[in-house]
Amino acid sequence: MKTEVLPFSEDSAKKAAEILAHGGIVGIPTETVYGLAADARDESAVRSIFAAKGRPQDNPLIVHISRLEQLPPLVREIPPLALKIAERFWAGPLTMIFPKSGLIPQATSGGLDTVAVRMPSSPAARAIIDACGFPLAAPSANLSGSPSPTTAQHVLNDMDGRIPLIIDGGECSCGVESTVLCFPTEDSVRILRPGGVTAEMLSELCRVEIDPAVTSEPEKGAKVLSPGMKYKHYSPKADVLIVDAHGEEFREWCEAHSGEGVIALSQESGGQGMFRSFGKDPQEQAHRLFALLREADEQGAVRVYVEMPSKEGIGLAVYNRLLRAAAFRIVGTDDEQ
Ligand code: AMP
Ligand code: MG
Repeated sequence: MKTEVLPFSEDSAKKAAEILAHGGIVGIPTETVYGLAADARDESAVRSIFAAKGRPQDNPLIVHISRLEQLPPLVREIPPLALKIAERFWAGPLTMIFPKSGLIPQATSGGLDTVAVRMPSSPAARAIIDACGFPLAAPSANLSGSPSPTTAQHVLNDMDGRIPLIIDGGECSCGVESTVLCFPTEDSVRILRPGGVTAEMLSELCRVEIDPAVTSEPEKGAKVLSPGMKYKHYSPKADVLIVDAHGEEFREWCEAHSGEGVIALSQESGGQGMFRSFGKDPQEQAHRLFALLREADEQGAVRVYVEMPSKEGIGLAVYNRLLRAAAFRIVGTDDEQ
């Protein structure tokens, strides 16, 4: 199959919608990362997403809508708190989990009785959903396990020959996937995956719990609320290691442990020698993280050291993705190597 890449326009959105309406899959831009979209109601279209990505069947997909009226038919119940949160944070990088209706096939929900729904703010994503008139199931448009794509070129690198069309909407502004949350009680939310809508932002509206799987490795065979959290994820071919140090101490440790194919993501600006600039601001780190991990692969890196990010705000999302990219390996500068 030849994969076409078209810049986003009204015409290309229509073309995408035509493919999607016939059970095809299309790479689409969103403000978080690029998605691999199919009609969320169409079991066989959704199965082809899993096949193109090589995604485990029990890892459910997020369903994307462009208007609030599209939500009620997809779910059996909408907690009042969900409406309050939607009013404040939709459209945006936030996904909420609801009991699913009969419209959602098992393939979309990974066999669960619930469905994850998000309303993206990206004008391109919204125009494509509008042109379809039906909700789109869309996981990140990378091969399963590899870093999420934040440009159309990243999608092409992973999906060339596997899908008919990619819509190029430029670089994703947020750069990490959406915040995923569920409602353990009437007046609280639990964050299953941190993202652009942060715990701090949500706590202005309600009580916020952070699921332990966000920052720790689930035990083998343990039941996790968000199935995606149990997989090694977001990783380049190179070995990623988080180094629990900052500034000069981090740079000295990296230099002492350098070698052929070793690079380091430093929060200082300027990338000399083994160092690449990861940025100081968590927002900037989120924006750059996946592109830097993909570049490491392109440069044939065997090992990537990363300066410990902040866990505040969107920093928690950066830390969560890095932990998985690093298979939970954190070294201190005093540790034996
Ligand atoms: P991705 O689409 O690749 O960004 O991954 C979607 C994330 O949302 C994964 O971590 C899933 O486990 C999570 N997710 C999707 N649907 C549900 C659901 N019904 N219950 C819990 N987590 C979900
Ligand atoms: Mg993903």
